[in-house]
Amino acid sequence: MRPIQMVDLKKQYHNIKAEVDKAVLDVLESSAFINGKPVQDFALQLSSYLGVKHVIPCANGTDALQIAMMALGLEPGDEVITPSFTYIATTEVIALLRLKPVFVEVDAKTFCIDPEAIKKAITPKTKAIVPVHLYGHVCQMEEIMAIAKEHQLYVIEDNAQAIGADYFFADGSKKKTGSIGTIGATSFFPSKNLGCYGDGGAIFTNDDALANQLKMVANHGQSKRYYHEVVGCNSRLDTVQAAVLNVKLRKLDAYITARRSVANYYDKAFAHNNKITTPFRAAYGTHVFHQYTMLLEGVDRDGLNQYLADKQIPSMIYYPVPAHRQQMFAAFGGANYKLATTDWLTQRVISLPIHTEMETDQLEYITKNVLDYIN
Ligand SMILES: *Cc1c(COP(=O)(O)O)cnc(C)c1O
Repeated sequence: MRPIQMVDLKKQYHNIKAEVDKAVLDVLESSAFINGKPVQDFALQLSSYLGVKHVIPCANGTDALQIAMMALGLEPGDEVITPSFTYIATTEVIALLRLKPVFVEVDAKTFCIDPEAIKKAITPKTKAIVPVHLYGHVCQMEEIMAIAKEHQLYVIEDNAQAIGADYFFADGSKKKTGSIGTIGATSFFPSKNLGCYGDGGAIFTNDDALANQLKMVANHGQSKRYYHEVVGCNSRLDTVQAAVLNVKLRKLDAYITARRSVANYYDKAFAHNNKITTPFRAAYGTHVFHQYTMLLEGVDRDGLNQYLADKQIPSMIYYPVPAHRQQMFAAFGGANYKLATTDWLTQRVISLPIHTEMETDQLEYITKNVLDYIN
């Protein structure tokens, strides 16, 4: 059996080596390392894949969120509603810009921001909502967009974990996550569902004026060289990374299918086990399984984590400490929040290996060992 990893980037690379090597060597030969043609090609291909008008590549997913908030003109003190149960980047950029993160609950089944909790958190200072499609599960976007419309709020979708997922509207139409809100932000960190071979990110929008603003902010606040209109930053996707992404974008749907079949295998193996709750899949969207995260009840989670590690099976806790309990947010009144569902989830979640190159013998071995410990 091949050694098990959370994500097997090496095997994935070997399976696409010829295409990737050629794409990367072409960049080296062209020496257009910054803003080379593959960068524009990638922006166009991704915008057509997502069905969104503008894709602005940038340096990483954290920058993508930051640039989004800067381009919207959010100002110090403005409130931004965000889940506490997310990767730190989502909430960190809010604080970095001196905006005020307002942490709200997630739904215990979907792990995504709870629209009812959003409603309760709105004040006259609220300017934006940041739904996070956590682990590849889609947020309740139709409800969230309705709340945003009623209160004139921006919606910035953190799509870092859900690229390629579909949302189904009540009228039967569908859209890709990241293309529904005012702005979508994503990451191409190597282990993401669409990952490059270093850092990368992108911002999406259907709004022409906003697209110009986003481009300007990401490029030192200039739209004409050496004329700087606003304070911006320097955030680019380099050409080598774009070349890798062009190859991998063509495989994204197949990669999603591969992830889903791993999830199906786990679901089946753990069905009927009353100590495991397998990931929920809402009917209003597709799950792209960035993570396979299950809930344990009446099981020593850290014991299972260690037991699996001893059997050479990695497993992860995403995330052991919610944002509102991070020391980083003490000055933002983090300790005053009472988020019972979020706390409950951080104590019960565990994520198993899931990637595009998993083999059946690995899945058999993982599920057998999980069940041996639990039963
Ligand atoms: C990975 C991730 C980010 C940040 O992406 P980087 O490219 O690492 O900066 C932001 N939000 C979520 C939910 C993520 O998973």
